[in-house]
Order: sequence, then structure tokens, then C-alpha cells
Amino acid sequence: MPLLEIRNVSRRFGNLRVIDHVSFGIDAGEFFSLVGPSGCGKTTLLRMIAGFDAPDDGDILLDGASILATAPEQRPIHTVFQSYALFPHLTVEKNVAFPLQMKGKSARATRARVTEVLRHVALSDKARHFPHELSGGQRQRVALARAIADLPRVLLLDEPLAALDAKLRELMQVELIRLQRDLGITFVFVTHAQDEALAMSHRIGVMDHGRIEQLDDPARIYGFPRNKFVADFIGHCTIVEATVQAIDGPRLSLSTPLLGMVTAPATTGARFGQQGWLALRPEQLRIGRPGAFADLPNRVSGKVCDFLYVGDVTTYIVELQGGVRIEALLANSLPGRVHFFEEGEPVELAWPADVGRFLRD
Ligand code: ATP
Repeated sequence: MPLLEIRNVSRRFGNLRVIDHVSFGIDAGEFFSLVGPSGCGKTTLLRMIAGFDAPDDGDILLDGASILATAPEQRPIHTVFQSYALFPHLTVEKNVAFPLQMKGKSARATRARVTEVLRHVALSDKARHFPHELSGGQRQRVALARAIADLPRVLLLDEPLAALDAKLRELMQVELIRLQRDLGITFVFVTHAQDEALAMSHRIGVMDHGRIEQLDDPARIYGFPRNKFVADFIGHCTIVEATVQAIDGPRLSLSTPLLGMVTAPATTGARFGQQGWLALRPEQLRIGRPGAFADLPNRVSGKVCDFLYVGDVTTYIVELQGGVRIEALLANSLPGRVHFFEEGEPVELAWPADVGRFLRD
């Protein structure tokens, strides 16, 4: 039995169906992320789990029992918001102590617990500081400490890292993973940053227009997206129209108006004549001078029209005949070079038979 179960939940605001018959379970001790574009319904779903809002249809269960009739403060579920929501006039230790005092814990038990959670989030030396004396990352850790102080069963995190700069965000990701592992509290993490979800979660629910499009572990979400939306939203992808021309065991032959005949791994349910899409990740493509990849089954020629150097890798944007643009990645293993191919230079892109993904919708 999952710890938390969302059962056929729908929510409308006026005529807008924001959550559309959503069902899934989250296991005890799981780091679960909901990811999707702005407005897809992530926060609405989270607010219903917390009890700040209620579904029009369906049920939300904890340990197999409905919690819809339970007030938010009675649910063993806490929320950490992007805005931290700290009390500015209270010190760090008083902020963290607040929910414990509200629950009637003794002064002694509260003190001991505050000391312990501040140690967990590495803020013991800031106990007497006020929020305005802390950095963004430290404030976020105080908010976390306060949310975990009385050991909720579930911690909801609504874009908690969105306000932090890139370096701090990465650091906090590592800390959150560690904290979740150490405490064993179930985390439900909401983000529109797909890289964050991939880096942190045991499982990810990818949402669009109030529905879960795919629910899987990060490697499957990235490696085996179920449809065009997931392939496009998670990571980078070139997606072109494709029709199945032949199925030969584990291989599909696809005709594509833009790339000609290519092969791709067979996907379950693909059938002859089916129309769909071929998705290719930039790191799956090899880029070289014309004729460089005679040994690979899939090859196309084009010209470099742009490149993007980000230190460890360079992304080349290659324009094929007919105007289609494909992204290919090249790792910059030799230091001091920004690019290997000039703008306008003819190149060949190639990929082996076991990469690429045929998507039916
Ligand atoms: P973001 O990543 O931008 O925070 P989200 O995926 O969390 O987006 P929600 O905040 O759940 O999206 O909003 C989903 C949709 O529901 C949006 O179109 C929003 O305008 C609408 N919405 C949310 N709350 C209300 C409300 N109280 N009244 C009317 N419409 C609402």
C-alpha cells in the first residue's frame, strides 16, 4: 500500500479543468517529484495534498484512509515554500521551535529537538541570528528545519530552490537528497526545472494540462519518454515526423521527410505504416567531417549554423537541407578550444541503430 495515494482527483476553477482525473501513489521514504511547465497544475495538486484546497472529485489517502476531512494543521504533512515564509522578528531557533511549541511540546523537548534539526541542516552556529542576517540558502535551510522539526510523514516542497543562484541550487540539491535519506521522510517535490527533478528523485511524475503524462524513475523518463511531450520537456531533443516502414525484431525502419530512411529501436506497440515521431538526444549524435562515420547506419549531412560553448561541452546546431535544425553535443576533452567546427562548415551527423526513440504520439 502506498503511503500517500491520489485517487482519481480532479479540480476545476470555473471552466478550467486544472487537475484532470489524476491517480498515483507515493511510497513511504520516497523522494517523489512533480515536474511540468508553468500552469500545468503542480501547485494545485500539492495544495490539495496539504489541505489548503480540496478536489472536486476523487480522494486523497494517507495510509489507506481518506484525509480530505482532516484540517491542514492536523495532517502529518508540512510544506516548504519558495518564499521561505519565515517569521522575520524571530531568531532561527525560535522560528524552528514555533511549530513544536504550537503542538504543546515541553520547553526542554523543544530545545533538544531544535538543536538536533539545526545540526541536520548545518545551521547550529546561526541559531541566534535573525532571517535578515542569513543568505538565501541559509534561510531556505531554516524553512526546511522548521518543516521537519516535528517529523511529518510527508514533506511537500514547492519550488524551494527557485530563488537560489545556480551554484547554491546545486549545493542545496545535494543537501536535500542527504536530508531526505537521513530522515526517511517522504518528500513530494514540485519543480518546473526538469534537471532538478532528474538529479534528486526516486520517481518523477511529468505533468501537462492537469494530467500525469508519465510516471517513472529518472533514467526511464529521460531514456524512454512515453510521448512527444515528455521527450521534449525533459532534456533536449530533436523531434521529426516519422512513419514505420518495417519492423525487424528489435529494429524499426522509419521514413522521415527530413532525415530520409533511418533506423530506431523498436517500441512496444509500433506497427507497420504507423505515423509518429523520431526523437534524438544531442548526446546520441556523433558529429564529424563528411564521410567520418561510414560504419554507422544513420547518417545525415548539413552545415554548422551555430554553436554554444558552455565549458564542458559545445552544442552544435546543424542545419540540414530543407532547413531542419539538429543539436549535437561534443565533449570538450581538450582544454582551450571553444569549437572544433566553424560556422558554415559542412559536417556529418550520425547515430547507431540502438539510439533514438520512435514515439506514437
Ligand atoms: P507554476 O509552475 O507556474 O507555479 P503550476 O504548475 O504550479 O504552475 P498551478 O499553480 O497549479 O500551476 O495552476 C494551474 C492553473 O490553475 C493555472 O492556469 C492557474 O492560473 C489556475 N489556478 C490556480 N489556482 C487558481 C485559483 N485559486 N483560481 C483560479 N485559477 C487558479
